[in-house]
Amino acid sequence: MTYQPPNGLQLVYNPGSYCHFVLYSEPPEVGPGIALSGGKILTVDKTVDGKAATTASPYVREWVQRLEPCDPDALHVALVGSKDAASLWQPCVYDDPQSPVTIAGDGCVCWQTFHDPVTWMPVAANHFRTVSGNHENWRYYTCSPLGFPAGQRLASLIIDGSEIWMRAEDGVLHFLPEAQGAGYSSGYGGGGPTELARMIEKIVGLDGYDITPGTPHGMPDRKVLAWISSPAAKHTQELSLDQLKLLCRTGMVA
Ligand SMILES: [Zn+2]
Repeated sequence: MTYQPPNGLQLVYNPGSYCHFVLYSEPPEVGPGIALSGGKILTVDKTVDGKAATTASPYVREWVQRLEPCDPDALHVALVGSKDAASLWQPCVYDDPQSPVTIAGDGCVCWQTFHDPVTWMPVAANHFRTVSGNHENWRYYTCSPLGFPAGQRLASLIIDGSEIWMRAEDGVLHFLPEAQGAGYSSGYGGGGPTELARMIEKIVGLDGYDITPGTPHGMPDRKVLAWISSPAAKHTQELSLDQLKLLCRTGMVA
């Protein structure tokens, strides 16, 4: 990673052993969401039978499927906050109908803990299942890493509803790094599309390498912003680096 925090901490990424990272804390009233560079909350709704994740996007499913269950640790506690911390150690109703986090035998408000094997970021998943299971979903809380591992290059940027992803040349999916409080969106005029347009210009300027959170101040290129704000940018799509370059040159992606 090339991101350098102001205090000069050297960030080190070494899959399988360790990585140094920075955590920002947020006041409790903001809710769960400590963040490396931006708190992430992804929701996976389930069908009534509780088996298939049917409404999540393919990208959310891809990310969820790679998560590895693990024991809760201090980072999971930091993700969920003190009120829910004790629940991290309680089993799901599916594993134990007598668990303290179940409701009337088949409802559930448990937390399950994972890590992302690609980035080693903590992930805490909050299960919500009403009694009889009419409504059921999982909300995944995690931190957004600061960028790709060193040397990795962006192959594509993915617009996926309210989530923006990037795929590295090795095919692995990552969150698009975002500065605290500077989220992305598309398909309308506003701050989110402006930030995404600036980030696309930054990505193209770096030729897909060394992507870090944060964008320069000032308005992005008018052509890029016009496309990002247009209905064409609203639907789910994966844009290659060449398409991003084309967008910056011509205001079109094809
Ligand atoms: Zn559960």
